[in-house]
Amino acid sequence: MPEAERETLETEVVIVGAGPAGLSCALRLAQLIEQRNAKATTGPAISAENIYILEKAGEIGAHCLSGAVLDPRSLRELVPDFERKGAPIESAVKDDAVYFLTPRGQWKLPVNPPFLQNHGNYIVSVNKLARWLGGLVESAGVSVFPGFAGSEILYEGRRVAGVRTDDKGIDRNGNPKSNFQPGYDLRAKVTVLAEGARGSLTKQLVRQQGLDHAENPQAYSLGVKELWQVPAGRISRGQVIHTAGWPLSGRQFGGGFIYALEETQLSVGLVAGLDAEDPRFDVHNCFQQFKTHPFVKGLLDGGEMLRYGAKTIPEGGYFSIPTTAVDGALIIGDAAGFLNAQRLKGIHLAIETGMLAAETLFEGLVREDLSEAALKQFETKWRASWVHDELWKVRNYRQGFQQGFWPGVLHAGLQMVTGGRGVRARYPLRKDHEHMEHLDEMGPGGAAKIKPDGDLTFDKLSDVYRSGTQHEEDQPCHLKIADFDICNNRCAREYGNPCQHFCPAAVYEMEESPDGSGRRLKINASNCVHCKTCDIADPYEIITWVTPEGGGGPRYDRM
Ligand code: SF4
Repeated sequence: MPEAERETLETEVVIVGAGPAGLSCALRLAQLIEQRNAKATTGPAISAENIYILEKAGEIGAHCLSGAVLDPRSLRELVPDFERKGAPIESAVKDDAVYFLTPRGQWKLPVNPPFLQNHGNYIVSVNKLARWLGGLVESAGVSVFPGFAGSEILYEGRRVAGVRTDDKGIDRNGNPKSNFQPGYDLRAKVTVLAEGARGSLTKQLVRQQGLDHAENPQAYSLGVKELWQVPAGRISRGQVIHTAGWPLSGRQFGGGFIYALEETQLSVGLVAGLDAEDPRFDVHNCFQQFKTHPFVKGLLDGGEMLRYGAKTIPEGGYFSIPTTAVDGALIIGDAAGFLNAQRLKGIHLAIETGMLAAETLFEGLVREDLSEAALKQFETKWRASWVHDELWKVRNYRQGFQQGFWPGVLHAGLQMVTGGRGVRARYPLRKDHEHMEHLDEMGPGGAAKIKPDGDLTFDKLSDVYRSGTQHEEDQPCHLKIADFDICNNRCAREYGNPCQHFCPAAVYEMEESPDGSGRRLKINASNCVHCKTCDIADPYEIITWVTPEGGGGPRYDRM
């Protein structure tokens, strides 16, 4: 397609991603600008109108997904009276418990480990929280553009100079359709990447500028979740349950969760590391098994599954965070890996790093200095804040579990008494996909798939339907495969095409080719729930997730 004529818009700050991090950044910056403008008589004119937020979902919050139990510390800093202002809190945590599951039984830990004590926290739906924050941001005068994906970073030399939004109205062969609309070039003094886990622009920037010189690579888990309506009388509103053990093996990191938003509405999910050795490991399938456990089944039986979603979680911790400030750009929230895997929490860190980025931007705007040196203040600020202290205490947590669940528990105990150190200063981490073994080294067990009954357990397509996922069908495939020959031959032979298993949305399928030449990879891109697992877990690193036409993807509601 010939290079299109594009409109260029100039602004001060463009934020990519309207999740908790991006919205908190925008809101804090707008608050600071308002306070300053109320009393400033000299200095540069600054306005919240010059903060733009791009969001690839059709509406704010529709791509946000989390468990979620919120530590309100940073939200209270951002909006001190958030309860009175109508923040969508489902319930205060009233009680929490941790269970270890065996295939048919369970035992409850007599005392919860301190990091899983949730007194003072709140059960929330992160996509409702984002919608609410979005309302505050818009009321503060910030310009929010839902349905516009940041598809490319614009550079001036090495400096990040803004982003290009997605072209709309291109057919599957890359030709313009009658409704073709070229993307905009948004030129900004600073671009803030707040795309969430494995953001596609963040990945480009980190690679282009070599920002991943952090000591360890990032490590991810995949979380899959369903929202259930259940009969009354089984659980109390505000109950939080975490589980370890079955159906995950002793070699795997992860566990289940059950959060009672109401007495009759449960958020139920399973999180598992993407560092599984077995290429047939399927988190969605494992989650379906989890629901058949008598303990979980007893809560869900006779209920109705309302919604489904899946998302990756950056869990590498402190040593996996890349450089977060470069010339022209900042990286905040999950995009940078600000998440406490031990506490299973990241929203509070997303909000806090968003606010610290906003303070950096505000100081730069007032001083008319948004140079690289000025933006580096963001690194200084988060390292001097409680974000650093919280992550430092658990800096070796995730690494311990790469040897298996029980070694991880031992490591975690040792780290608790040594302030996060363990027996050495830093434990290394390997990339998730490097743990995957060849198929011929695996036993038969990993291939066992549950037969969904449509009441308690579901196949991937039924679940995708409940995620509300929709994409324009006639558009270029947003899952870029560098070499199909590797998929159809080498990967089929060595790993049995793990994409068929690890994708929680049945996007990848091996089908017989019509000419009888063997099995070929088919990509059902319109099922994609934007979890980014394939971009991470593919053993040859030949799958690249890029933004589809803005507005496509899941439509999460109360998730
Ligand atoms: Fe997730 Fe990739 Fe499947 Fe989309 S195609 S749902 S990003 S694994």
